[in-house]
Amino acid sequence: MFDFRLNEVAEWIVNMDASTVAVQLPEGLKVHAQSIARELRERTGADILILGDPCYGACDYAPSFSRYADALVQFGHAEIPSMASPSNVLFVEVFIDLDVTMLLERVLPMLRDRVGLLTTVQHVHQLPKIKEWLTSHGKEARIGRGDPRIKFEGQVLGCNISSVDPLLEEVDQFLYIGSGDFHPLMVAIESDKQVLVLDPLLNEVREIDHLKERILRQRHAAITRAETASRFLILVSTKVGQERMSLAMRLRRFAEENGRSADIVLLEEFHPDRLLPYQADAYVSTACPRIAIDDYLRYPKPILTPVELEIVLGRKKWTDYSLDSIQG
Ligand code: SF4
Repeated sequence: MFDFRLNEVAEWIVNMDASTVAVQLPEGLKVHAQSIARELRERTGADILILGDPCYGACDYAPSFSRYADALVQFGHAEIPSMASPSNVLFVEVFIDLDVTMLLERVLPMLRDRVGLLTTVQHVHQLPKIKEWLTSHGKEARIGRGDPRIKFEGQVLGCNISSVDPLLEEVDQFLYIGSGDFHPLMVAIESDKQVLVLDPLLNEVREIDHLKERILRQRHAAITRAETASRFLILVSTKVGQERMSLAMRLRRFAEENGRSADIVLLEEFHPDRLLPYQADAYVSTACPRIAIDDYLRYPKPILTPVELEIVLGRKKWTDYSLDSIQG
């Protein structure tokens, strides 16, 4: 099902003349790490080291690999074109090949005339065929190009759905191909259009309207809880593609101008326990926009996005609400 493209990877390692190579995989693909390492070692003669720490995206490649290896191969994510990475780092998209024709037949009666197609990197190679299928079944299907944080047409990240922008006036609804609800949820909140999910891994089609309402209620509750906070911790990630220090500085100034105190804390890995030593009534995450939403219930105090802090401080209104994103 997964295509790790080991021929290309082995050729790259040989061309790099690397004698030790680190490989990094997201959690869902780590079970394949040992067979990949063995095969690459056999094919190239290089020593292959498996990086065992979590890896969430191309934003999260491990710069410290150079202490142990000449090169790094990160599987499972597309490079972020706007994020400079060294020439000895290779990003290998891992495409999933599953026939989605049955699911397309199932979703067809739910589709309006003009449909925007979106997906994550695992399925991005299937978009042209899906577009062709929909066109041959009477639909006008469109695929948009995102900003420089996005490599492929129609691709979305949990921190960037700019592939939606060129389609906003051109489509009636979006069809998201992929698993998980965060990306389509973001599209539904930001575009205010219906989003249907075609999930090849779960083999199902679903709507996410109910989830959109639930998350918006949760975000509203987080903002309300933080309104009386006098001490904020502004959290900055040290991961290469998530670090937003100037935003953190600006947020601290906004908080102080509003009569609150705010300290900036840098972390590589966010976890509620790491915040226990600090005095704070609420947290603000400037790192991956998913953290405040996905992990909200794990934190004993409200964890806000930058936009939500601005609402708490009266600089923006709830009617201006948008999810956090990192632009290219
Ligand atoms: S910031 Fe978050 S959503 Fe964006 S690429 Fe990194 S892990 Fe993915």
